[in-house]
Amino acid sequence: MQCRNCGLENPASAQWCDCGHVFATGNCDIALRLPERAGLWQHPVVIVLSALVLALLVFAPLYYIANSAPP
Ligand SMILES: [Zn+2]
Repeated sequence: MQCRNCGLENPASAQWCDCGHVFATGNCDIALRLPERAGLWQHPVVIVLSALVLALLVFAPLYYIANSAPP
């Protein structure tokens, strides 16, 4: 069946749509929406940025120690 809210085609057995629209009640339940955080962490830009921040956190102290150590 097609969702009235977002137009997404869902299986006939589906009780609600990915957007949160509940077919039985016709209501839009935000709690049923797919977790957006999971999708965010699958985003390539977020993964690259996380890797950069992690690298900075690891290498910045090493760089500081290497430069502040007596010869
Ligand atoms: Zn929908």
